Amino acid sequence: MLMLANTCPECNGDLLYEVSTKHFICRNCGLYVTREQLDDIRDRLRPRRKSSKEAEYLEWWMSKK
Ligand SMILES: [Zn+2]
Repeated sequence: MLMLANTCPECNGDLLYEVSTKHFICRNCGLYVTREQLDDIRDRLRPRRKSSKEAEYLEWWMSKK
């Protein structure tokens, strides 16, 4: 059984969750990962910010758009 779970961290395509194997599968690029691996990828792709203050300002600014 496949469920639409999220968007792919690599390509922003549809990320499906396969219940029987507990793996996430991207319909677009073929990414096949566990929940842990998915978290790792998200951590890796998240831009590192210099300070939390700067990040808060950026988030506020982005939310205005
Ligand atoms: Zn993908």
